[in-house]
Amino acid sequence: MTAYHYPTTLDETCALLDDGEDTMVYGGGTAVQILLKQGVLFATDLVDIGGVPGLDEITETSKGLRVGPLVTLRSMETSPIVRRVAPIAAEVYGRVANPRVRNTASVGGNIAHGDYRLDPPTALMVLDATVELTSRRGSRKVPAREFFVDFQQTALEHGELVSAIEIPSQPESAGAHFAKLSSLAANDWPAASAAALVVQGSRGKRDVRLGLGALSHVPVFLQFEAAADTSVDDVVTAAKDAATPLLDPLPDVRGSSDYKRRLGLVAVEEAIRNSWKEGSDDHRRVSIFGRRRR
Ligand SMILES: Cc1cc2nc3c(=O)[nH]c(=O)nc-3n(C[C@H](O)[C@H](O)[C@H](O)COP(=O)(O)OP(=O)(O)OC[C@H]3O[C@@H](n4cnc5c(N)ncnc54)[C@H](O)[C@@H]3O)c2cc1C
Repeated sequence: MTAYHYPTTLDETCALLDDGEDTMVYGGGTAVQILLKQGVLFATDLVDIGGVPGLDEITETSKGLRVGPLVTLRSMETSPIVRRVAPIAAEVYGRVANPRVRNTASVGGNIAHGDYRLDPPTALMVLDATVELTSRRGSRKVPAREFFVDFQQTALEHGELVSAIEIPSQPESAGAHFAKLSSLAANDWPAASAAALVVQGSRGKRDVRLGLGALSHVPVFLQFEAAADTSVDDVVTAAKDAATPLLDPLPDVRGSSDYKRRLGLVAVEEAIRNSWKEGSDDHRRVSIFGRRRR
């Protein structure tokens, strides 16, 4: 029999997690419920953090957003603050599964689940988000890009919970796009996904960032620089060349490794084509200036 605990403070939560052997946090329960029933997960104790105040808040900070672990995926999708400060994050959280799952699943539970196919980490990695982990020992911060350690393994250590995710503001001039390709149904897990963020750098360069989902045993991040006047075709080629050696998809009911590898390159191309704005940054500055004067 699994025992349920309902702490009302973070300290109490940390104590329960630290003292227990097979004790797990219960977030929205959408993954835990299924995996316990299937016998894939075993827990003697579940700690429901729903009674701890403040864990379901989205706060705008000087650098971006601070998101509590119990914020639902649906709130990330619909929050006017998230849509303004980090629109690619709102877009990606809004593409997870279906409204029923998104209304229940939490931001903390999503990332802690550690599945290599998860959609949100693709956006968190391109935005350079940080995961805050708290335990009796205090808090530490891990970049989202380093959070996924191995197949279904994250940086979470015994006694820790995800206490917040910090998401830097998406630069206003950046191009962004999320490509999610599913082979069974539109709202199913992806067979391949790619989030792209193209940020203006210095000296006529642009910083091209890609977060890939379902294409290896962990979410994959890659980054390269391209001159602002490069043609989109050349950027697509560069992105595919950079991604190809990192693709090592697991075969499953959604397709073979080879199929997913090919689909991964299609997702990369879609994400880049929709986030790369043709023309040098000088030209873009002129046209933005022109629009503002009207
Ligand atoms: C039908 C279906 C379709 C899905 N499709 C997709 C999809 O297309 N894309 C996608 O990205 N995901 C998909 N998912 C997965 C879904 O996103 C996850 O189930 C969900 O995000 C997990 O969040 P939760 O709050 O329900 O976590 P829970 O089920 O509560 O917990 C999941 C794991 O995280 C741990 N945990 C929870 N909260 C914390 C915390 N604060 N700190 C530390 N550990 C914690 C739990 O102990 C458990 O190990 C799908 C799920 C279902 C059921």
